[in-house]
Amino acid sequence: MAGEKVFTKSETRLKRRPLPSNNFKLSANQQLAISHRNKPLIVTGGPGSGKTTVLIETAIARINEGQDPNSILLLTFGRERASEVRDAIALRTSETMLEPLARTFHALAYSILKSEGHNPILLSGPEQEGWIRQLVDGVAWPAELQPALHTRGFIRELRDLMLRATERGWTPEDLEVNGKKYQEEFWVAASKFWKSYIGTLILVDADHGEPKERLDSAQLIWRAANATRSSFNSQFKTILIDEFQESDKAQRALLANIATDDLVIAVDPFSTVGRFRGADPDGLQEALSPYQSKGDVIQLTENFRASSAVHLFLEKVAGEFPKAPNTQSSSAEFAGSVVAECFIDGANEAAFIADKLQRAHLEGGLKWSEMAVIFRSPAQSGAVRSALMRYAIPVAGELQVLSENASIAPFLLMAEAAIRGKVDLTTAEILLSSEFGGADSISLRRIRRELVAKYSSATGLSGTELICKAITDGQFEIPSGQSLMRVHDLFDIAERTAKKKASQPEDLLWAIWSNAKTDDNQLISEAWRDRALKGGFRGANADRDLDAMLQLFESARRFGQRFRYANLLDFFKDIRKSEIAGDVITAKGQRPDVVELLTPFSAKGRQWKLVVVAGVQEGIWPNLRIRGSLLGSERLAERDRNPDLAAIELELVAKAAVAVDELRLFYAAISRASQDLVITAVDREEDQPSTYFDLAYEFCNPELDFEAKRSINKASNLLSTANVISKLRRELLANGSTDAAATLKALASAGISGADPSDWYGVKPISSDAPAIPEDEDVRVSPSGIEKFDECQLRWFLETHGGQDGNTTAQLIGTVIHKFAELAETSDTNLDSQIELLTANWKLVDPETGWISRTSMGRAVLMLKRFYKYRESMAGKRTFKESEASYKFKIGRAFISCKIDRIETTVDGKLYIVDFKTGKSAISIEDAKTDAQMQIYQYAVGVDVAGASLVYLDHELKGNKTRDQQPIDRKAVEERIERTAVIMGGNRYLAVKNSNCQFCNVNSSCPLQVEGRGLYE
Ligand code: SF4
Repeated sequence: MAGEKVFTKSETRLKRRPLPSNNFKLSANQQLAISHRNKPLIVTGGPGSGKTTVLIETAIARINEGQDPNSILLLTFGRERASEVRDAIALRTSETMLEPLARTFHALAYSILKSEGHNPILLSGPEQEGWIRQLVDGVAWPAELQPALHTRGFIRELRDLMLRATERGWTPEDLEVNGKKYQEEFWVAASKFWKSYIGTLILVDADHGEPKERLDSAQLIWRAANATRSSFNSQFKTILIDEFQESDKAQRALLANIATDDLVIAVDPFSTVGRFRGADPDGLQEALSPYQSKGDVIQLTENFRASSAVHLFLEKVAGEFPKAPNTQSSSAEFAGSVVAECFIDGANEAAFIADKLQRAHLEGGLKWSEMAVIFRSPAQSGAVRSALMRYAIPVAGELQVLSENASIAPFLLMAEAAIRGKVDLTTAEILLSSEFGGADSISLRRIRRELVAKYSSATGLSGTELICKAITDGQFEIPSGQSLMRVHDLFDIAERTAKKKASQPEDLLWAIWSNAKTDDNQLISEAWRDRALKGGFRGANADRDLDAMLQLFESARRFGQRFRYANLLDFFKDIRKSEIAGDVITAKGQRPDVVELLTPFSAKGRQWKLVVVAGVQEGIWPNLRIRGSLLGSERLAERDRNPDLAAIELELVAKAAVAVDELRLFYAAISRASQDLVITAVDREEDQPSTYFDLAYEFCNPELDFEAKRSINKASNLLSTANVISKLRRELLANGSTDAAATLKALASAGISGADPSDWYGVKPISSDAPAIPEDEDVRVSPSGIEKFDECQLRWFLETHGGQDGNTTAQLIGTVIHKFAELAETSDTNLDSQIELLTANWKLVDPETGWISRTSMGRAVLMLKRFYKYRESMAGKRTFKESEASYKFKIGRAFISCKIDRIETTVDGKLYIVDFKTGKSAISIEDAKTDAQMQIYQYAVGVDVAGASLVYLDHELKGNKTRDQQPIDRKAVEERIERTAVIMGGNRYLAVKNSNCQFCNVNSSCPLQVEGRGLYE
């Protein structure tokens, strides 16, 4: 084609970038370590002392000297860390490597077993826990453990116990023997479980159609250690190990088998953070001594990371260890800062943190990825995550339990239904009410009604069968059938994909994901992307859902690779049963520019300019509870080290170990900060800052004496977009500030929402002052609306013009109970048959499951019982005459249309009005005397009325259950209605503060409430 450039083979060349050289200064001791040769070397030093740098430079120096890079092994902890170190080396050398130079112990163990002809599968944590859960009932556990067996905590303790035992080289028999010897009765039961667990791992693989050996992480390392014990032909001449303090016994055994004389071990005993994962800091010295005895030790004494303020605080915390680490001298060129603040509650703490990060970004110029927030436990991060989202601060996605993500669950269900080729009612309802179904509980009922009306008699199918069949076969057409058709079309595509030979879970998921559409006919993938890009709360949720979808695809891909012949359904069943977040399998390449929320363990080996250590509360950090205290995984670790200690002493040793462990975690967390460190806590009666916070507070406020009270803050003057815009608006409106106007203009043109005056409610003129209803038209007045109108006209107006939610479950219960009350008089039913009918069809009232729905059903049953009790109590006093009696009439401009629940006849032949109430609160006896609804009903029925009653059916209502009204003065009622109708049809509605303001749906549009004031000011 003319003008098109054709590349020939010889013209296309890949050119490597010039290799960068290291552009930082190494200390004398670092240089000494890098040039050390021919015997083991132990490099010690605190956080930021440059130990990892020594290992990287050692590898590069060896390669530059001509050593084959494939003969160098750098072991580290964690896939991400290995990948970072690998990249750092790869960028500085042009040599080709056959296998990754830097890897984890697990990756090394895996490649050793593969080279020996094995092809095992490493069980991830969630997989292992899922498998334990399935097997846990197969053993006779002591009675006291029975209630806990299926809890997440117990499964995790059991997993930990088996892992700790495996890491220490124990067998199930050792666990049983030691259980008996040390009176650990649960170990004996656990040993039986462990035996059957090991035995079933091969069976599991057969289930998945491809026999492979499955190993957990501890078993994998021991297998490799055993394989290398006698005859291992190692390719590695140089072995470098980072963070040796995180190693367990099994890893040390593996190292002992493959270690060469060119061995460099980097270690900092005070930074161990993985004790809960088997790290063994107490056995560290013993593990190092064989290498130390024939080698050298070099201590790195400078801190290259921390600013001088952070460094000084690190020194203070180091002083808390029973045997203090050697503190280093700081090489910091800048002062940095340490701040300790406590707050009145978690919301203020979270807002302060969000503000701090926002200011560091906007005013300090830090990238988001240069900041992190560290918590002792991931469960603490919720409030901060929400606050960051409110501030539109990009925050790293969290690991999620996929089956618990409400947006993902319908995709999993759709896949399972497509594989099975059928759906049941529960699945059908979830699919129809999902984002790709788009139905709500009201339209679900409508769909059912229309299907039954049109097809039931011709097909003989029930409503349930029709809904399910409409999804799988798609042959029914009804006016409200758009949701059905969308779900059917997607089901059809998914089913065809599932039926294809060799289809993998990933293919099926892709078929569903890439075809699912919203009710606006937009692809869900695009809808989520658009929402995510818009930011805010909805954007953050969409972000989270997209992350979850990626996580799901990644899990599906892994499953497909590992079990190529497995049944498709197995994957979806596994995922839906999984109760814990999946492991991140893929190493991250480029880190995105987001703030990360981490634990000390996940922050290990990394650094940020600004680190916030949050939630430093008593009982949380330090958390002195002994880990695995039920089954005793911590005691097992201590017992292995101290076989002869009495139980009571062992407990003390374990407690002391936990205390030091907690301090190490704190030390590791604060040492991640290179420039500024912020430590926060909440200070209130039931929730006190911990001693670690006190350390920081004293450090930051040296002038305060020991007894002085901490100052407790409220987060104020925050730098959120909304706050800044409202401040500028106030300045502009109050003083006509041209600066404020110019800034708002700039913000508006940058697309910042709320900055453009056309978005401001209070600034716009009134759009119309015409009456709501033209003067020559009737005003529809509902009997129950008059009381609401008298209470607050504004609320009445807004609610009757769209400001009301759809039918709530409570309203639907009311409708159902009224219907049953009517049926009790007009059909052949009784209390038992009505209760049966109600409970069997409860899903139509509340499609949800769970205890809230069950409680509502219980309430409804009690209401029915109370209605029957009311009927009995009327025997001999009044008799039933009519139910749901309709009346329509006009008074002045008011047009009234009403239905009366029940009309009864008194013994002297007069009529009596009864209105059933299903709400949880009753009006007062006094208010009932003038209640407009009862007045209108009396007016509607005529002159011969003996009175009216409201009868309350909710069981929670104590005391008198009826509110009575005497016969009315018809003239007075007429005047009241006429007067009300005129104001209702007018153009002004008064907001009147009242006792129900707290339940008001429209308070965000009310000038009397903080939430709504902005609309008018
Ligand atoms: S908050 Fe109170 S005053 Fe305001 S509209 Fe609602 S009920 Fe009326």
